[in-house]
Amino acid sequence: MTRRDGILREIGLAPLWRLRNRSDAAVDAVAAASTEPVAATAAGPAADGRAARIAAMDWDELMGAVTACRACRLCENRKQAVFGVGDAAADWLFVGEGPGAEEDERGEPFVGQAGRLLDAMLAAIDLRRGRKVYIANAVKCRPPGNRTPEAAETAACFPFLQRQIELIRPRLIVALGKPAAETLLEAEVKVGASRGRLFDFRGIPLIVTYHPAYLLRTPPDKAKAWEDLCLARRTMQRLTKGAG
Ligand code: SF4
Repeated sequence: MTRRDGILREIGLAPLWRLRNRSDAAVDAVAAASTEPVAATAAGPAADGRAARIAAMDWDELMGAVTACRACRLCENRKQAVFGVGDAAADWLFVGEGPGAEEDERGEPFVGQAGRLLDAMLAAIDLRRGRKVYIANAVKCRPPGNRTPEAAETAACFPFLQRQIELIRPRLIVALGKPAAETLLEAEVKVGASRGRLFDFRGIPLIVTYHPAYLLRTPPDKAKAWEDLCLARRTMQRLTKGAG
């Protein structure tokens, strides 16, 4: 049995899951962007000013701003904000919904059961977190009771994700689940109807698939997620070839 076959069996997908083929001013800016309250809708001049400050941050400033952020009420129950993990110059960006209990505890996205499934999904297409892969969430702080983040919360957190994307400059984005897809596409999204298509996030191809936590609850849809990953892999191969 190959290593991949072993992975696929372990996650219950064999035989389907088989490949077919910084300054003081900057510190002030970070602090201001981190703590300045925004309107509930994350709209208006205050939100615009905050978004502009975040849009000018470098990676370290951005991490500092997220760590200190109190721009939406998700800050109230978090143990820590979860910035993201991986290669800051990644080709692949996977975007989930928000931290869960284990992520909140450890400060890293996708470390619970869903994270183990995501790692297995990555391994099935020869990817590994940290190696040309970055993993982030639509919101950086844990929604209480693991509820879905509200629109005002994803809107308040979006400037951080947007800046992460600008700095990473991934070749391809994979949105894991509806909240991530809706945040990035700024539209109502049905994952089932959006699969198999290439969307565009400001010039970067974007693919929508199911969130690993959903797949744990709905194992029959793992086969569809596998199809999506195959599409993502083919797309990346095309993009890499085109760039070479
Ligand atoms: Fe700030 Fe985002 Fe956390 Fe809200 S979820 S407090 S916007 S870092």
